[in-house]
Amino acid sequence: MSRGDLLAFDREHLWHPYSSMTAPTRVYPVRSAAGVRLRLDVDGEQREVIDAMSSWWCAIHGYAVPELDAAVTAQLGQMSHVMFGGLTHEPAVELGRRLVALAPEGLDKVFFADSGSVSVEVAMKMAWQAQYGSGRKRFFTIRGGYHGDTFSPMSVTDPDGGMHSLYAGIVPDHVFADRPPAIGEPLEDWKGATTRLFDEHAHEIAAVIIEPVLQGAGGMHVYHPDAVRHLADVARAHGALVIFDEIATGLWRTGTLWAGEQAGVVPDILCVGKALTGGYLTLAAVLTTGDVAAAVDASPAHAMMHGPTFMANPLACAVAAANLDLLATYDAGARVRRINEALTTGLSSARALAGVTDVRTVGAVGVIELDGPADVAALTSASLELGVWIRPFRNLVYTMPPYVCTDQDLAAITTAMVGAVEETGR
Ligand SMILES: *Cc1c(COP(=O)(O)O)cnc(C)c1O
Repeated sequence: MSRGDLLAFDREHLWHPYSSMTAPTRVYPVRSAAGVRLRLDVDGEQREVIDAMSSWWCAIHGYAVPELDAAVTAQLGQMSHVMFGGLTHEPAVELGRRLVALAPEGLDKVFFADSGSVSVEVAMKMAWQAQYGSGRKRFFTIRGGYHGDTFSPMSVTDPDGGMHSLYAGIVPDHVFADRPPAIGEPLEDWKGATTRLFDEHAHEIAAVIIEPVLQGAGGMHVYHPDAVRHLADVARAHGALVIFDEIATGLWRTGTLWAGEQAGVVPDILCVGKALTGGYLTLAAVLTTGDVAAAVDASPAHAMMHGPTFMANPLACAVAAANLDLLATYDAGARVRRINEALTTGLSSARALAGVTDVRTVGAVGVIELDGPADVAALTSASLELGVWIRPFRNLVYTMPPYVCTDQDLAAITTAMVGAVEETGR
C-alpha cells in the first residue's frame, strides 16, 4: 500500500484515541520497531526515532525483543487462544505464579482481564460484591485521577478531566476528595478535610480507589506516600476496602516494584497492566486476598460475575510471563534510579524556559509542565526532528522511557524534550 493510500484511508475511516473523525489531527505511519526505536515516516522520509513513550508506558523492554518474540512464537505453535471457562493452560498458570510471587503479601488470588480499564471494572465489581451485605454502593477517590475509559473507571476518574458533566446521568456519582498536595507541600489541611469528607460518607463507601504516589494520565501529579497511607487508614477504620490502580505505576515505574510500597500499604485489591504486557498483547490482572475472594462468594451470586471472551489469552499470558522473566534478569530498582538521575539532570535546564511552570521526575518518569495547553502537533514535530517520539497531553510534555534505554538514549530524549519546548515556546 502506498503511503498516500494508507494516510487517505486512515483519515477518512479510522478513529484515533481521543480524536475527531471530521477534523483529525496528523498521524505518522510506523513501519516497524526494534530496540527502543520506531521506524516512522515523516513527510515521506523514513526516520528512526527513540520512543520516549514506551507505547503508552507498556513497552518497558522495547520492541522486537528476542525473548518476547520467542515466547509468542512458541505459544503460537501450541495454541493462540482457548476459552478460560472450564479450561485452563500453562501460560495462565505460569503468569499467575509469577504475579503471586511479585505481589504484596497476601494478594494471591488472580483475575485476568483483557485491558487496564476492564481490570478496574473488575476491581470495582469485586469490591461491590464483597461489600454486598453491607449495602455500601459508592466509591471514594481523589480528584485528578485516571482509571480508564469505560464507565466504571470513568466514574472514579477526575470529574473535569473525565468530563463527568458531559456524561451526567450515566456516570455514577462517587465521592471525590481534593487532589493531595504535590510532594514537598504540607499535608495536614488536606488530611483533615479528607478525613471529614470520608466520615460524612463512611456508611456508603465500599472502597477507596487511587493510583498510589503518581497520578498518571490525570496530570502526572506526584504526591506524598503519607497521603496514600492516610487514605488507606481512613478507609480501613470505616470498613471500606482499598483498591490500588497500579496499571501505570506498577513494576518499578515509580522506583519501587509497587508504588504502594512507598506508603507501606498493602491494598485489598491491586490492578496491574501496561508494563505487565511488555507492550506485546493487551492484558491486565486484578490481584486480591483470600478474604476478599471469600466475601465475593458470600454475595448472592456466590461467584465473581465477570468473564471476558479473551480472559487469560494464552499468547498474552505467555509473553507477559516472559516479560516478567526478563525484568527479573537485572536490578530494575537500580536501573530506574539511573534513569531518574538522567531525566532529572537532562530536564533541569527546562526550568529556565519561558512558559515552563514546573519540571519534575519520579522513578522512570520525567515531566515538563507548561503554563498553558501544549501545542501537541508542534511539539511532536519538533521532537521528531530531534529524533524522539513524544506525545504531550494537556499542559504536559513528558517521558516514560523503556527501561532498556541507554544513557545516550536518555540524553537524546531529554535534549529533544527541552529543545522542542524551547523551539515552540510551549
Ligand atoms: C492506562 C491506565 C488505565 C487503563 O488501561 P487501558 O489498558 O488503557 O484500558 C487504567 N488506570 C491507569 C492508572 C492507567 O494508567
